Amino acid sequence: MNDCIFCKIAAGEIPGNKVYEDDQVVAFYDLNPAAKVHLLVIPREHIANMMEINAANSAVVAHIFEVIAKLAKELKLEKGFRVVSNCNAYAGQSVFHLHFHVLGGEQLSLTMC
Ligand code: 5GP
Ligand code: ZN
Repeated sequence: MNDCIFCKIAAGEIPGNKVYEDDQVVAFYDLNPAAKVHLLVIPREHIANMMEINAANSAVVAHIFEVIAKLAKELKLEKGFRVVSNCNAYAGQSVFHLHFHVLGGEQLSLTMC
């Protein structure tokens, strides 16, 4: 999608401090971290949010969770971490490209993200 910041990060058009990428998924550090470790994991494909997940594109979501498990081990988050995906206005979604926040590295409060 032309005007989407996360599509641009996935494509390497703007820098994103990536920690992982493959043909389907990109993971990078959040610009404004809400915890000591705050990653965003996104599909390369532009999907606006969880309302747009369907039978044709849902395989990438399973892959995202495999990547999250791998990164959680690499980043030593075994004491605990949280995965959040905000969907639409009431949840405070600000970037309309599906993304999963991964928060960890410290004791988390219930208000983070
Ligand atoms: P949302 O509010 O949509 O759930 O989360 C969007 C997240 O994207 C926010 O935590 C925000 O800090 C992050 N973000 C917005 N623009 C950029 C950017 O250009 N680069 C990175 N790395 N993170 C961004
Ligand atoms: Zn996008």
